[in-house]
Amino acid sequence: MRVVLLGPPGAGKGTHAARVAGEMSVPMVASGDLFREHQKNDTSLGRLARSYMERGVLVPDQITIDMVMDWIVKNENKGGFLLDGFPRTLTQASALEESLGAGSGIDRVLYIDVPIKVLIRRLSGRQVCGSCQSIYHLEFSPVKSIGECDNCGGGVYQREDDKKESVLRRLEVYRTETEPVIEYYRNLKILVDVDGDNDVKDVEMTLMEAIKS
Ligand code: AMP
Repeated sequence: MRVVLLGPPGAGKGTHAARVAGEMSVPMVASGDLFREHQKNDTSLGRLARSYMERGVLVPDQITIDMVMDWIVKNENKGGFLLDGFPRTLTQASALEESLGAGSGIDRVLYIDVPIKVLIRRLSGRQVCGSCQSIYHLEFSPVKSIGECDNCGGGVYQREDDKKESVLRRLEVYRTETEPVIEYYRNLKILVDVDGDNDVKDVEMTLMEAIKS
């Protein structure tokens, strides 16, 4: 089963992706994490991506497509996959379709939607572990010991692009670039709407039902 997780920044994709993929027994990848991994390793791709990410704009399509396709090829024959944060433009969706073959090659798209006010509140308080990528929130789910990840003890930090100005730009980019992708998959009748403005457990249950239906 091949699944795409779509939604605005702050919708909770990162919170749910690993668990949903675990339930499906398939590997998962978040395009944003792949870029951050490249930055951590100081590769040329990482340095290039940083200049876009810090401004809250999308990394150019061809660079992103090559990186994610490379991951897909390396993870073939594992019963499917879950993609988090890709595709984010119609060009990326077409490239994915072309490489996977008939239809869109994707079985289901889970679209988590959340009102914009809630997104801004979530993103501006979000903290991430630099080692294991666990997600926290200063107000809703703080770490037990300041600056330290509950899971692995790694350092938690606020992403540069979660600062106010970048957040607003990312939401605008989402509206212009990614919303058409939602309509694209809706027309293919493989999209399931999930209300993300709910308790984490409720959202998770809805996502699990959507992949089993
Ligand atoms: P995320 O972790 O999904 O919020 O992504 C962080 C940043 O990585 C985005 O604001 C973009 O700059 C970049 N990025 C992640 N996924 C993509 C994508 N599919 N296309 C272009 N840029 C992306």
